Amino acid sequence: MSPNPATNFRHLDDDSAWQAVQTRNSRLDGAVYYAVKTTGIYCLPSCPARKPNRANVSFFVSCSAAERAGYRPCMRCKPAEAAAAPAWALRVEKACRLMEESEVPIPLADLARAVGSSTHHFHRQFRSALGITPKATAAALRNDRVRDALSRGATVTEALYEAGFSSSGRFYSGASAALGMAPDSFRKGGASEQLTFATMPCSLGHVLVAASTKGVCAILLGDSADGLAGELRALFPQAILNEADASFAATAASIVALVDRPESQSAIPLDIRGTAFQRRVWETLRKIPAGETRSYSELAAAIGSPGAVRAVAGACAANKLAVAIPCHRILRRDGSLSGYRWGQERKRALLDKEKS
Ligand SMILES: [Zn+2]
Repeated sequence: MSPNPATNFRHLDDDSAWQAVQTRNSRLDGAVYYAVKTTGIYCLPSCPARKPNRANVSFFVSCSAAERAGYRPCMRCKPAEAAAAPAWALRVEKACRLMEESEVPIPLADLARAVGSSTHHFHRQFRSALGITPKATAAALRNDRVRDALSRGATVTEALYEAGFSSSGRFYSGASAALGMAPDSFRKGGASEQLTFATMPCSLGHVLVAASTKGVCAILLGDSADGLAGELRALFPQAILNEADASFAATAASIVALVDRPESQSAIPLDIRGTAFQRRVWETLRKIPAGETRSYSELAAAIGSPGAVRAVAGACAANKLAVAIPCHRILRRDGSLSGYRWGQERKRALLDKEKS
């Protein structure tokens, strides 16, 4: 058979395309069109018309390519209409939406199943539609998400957890290209804002309370006022920090009371800063009653992402509002304390207070 110069379909070889025509494979509708020299018309692979003779068939990547070569659309399968929204395009679109909405990477086989395709076909259709693989698309979406999280003020580590990166090394290797600059410089580009803060002794050592105009944005526990002020600066590198005056006394006192009696519900308005995923984790944390505990996997299941245990642990570790968001109520599955941003002794003390 002589090479056909009109055959310009790059992703599907002629043998596969011919196979699709012979099996009337609707999955490839829109991915390839076949034209029949003897009739002068072109069709979708699934066309119910009589199967043509291979010697008379050539393949095209689009309706317009077939028409440029002098073929007319078939009246039975109406390839031009099908091309407007072929099934494979809807599948690819749906897959992109699922990847965008998912907090964690979706395995290829799950993605294919979710859009009603086989893994092999899905991968091929996706690649021929977008020119890149599902895996590369997921990586690009993660980069977008990291960029979003960073621009909202999350730390690089928090942003990585949320975006589903399993190691920061993998992120950094592609990050500068994706962001146009190094992640830390990107994060620090935000506008300055004013925060008011005060540190006071409490039953767990010292507590620092910081507030924006919207509400309390940080409650930190530590051994010294100086150490806590340093932690606050690290958490809000772009903010201007002002020591509180007397008008802040009531807010500060109510936070000290909360630390002393963590079971008491506080009416203090909070300014909860975090990525969408972190906020979902933190909101669920706030529903755990005092005196009860959960494991990381129970928490992951409660937010509807049972596979995201690691990201959930990352969100707990990123909590900036001690006691008000009770991350101290999360234990390892075996009941052991696990980590706590402000020290295991304080975690144990908080749990003991809630038990009594
Ligand atoms: Zn047809």
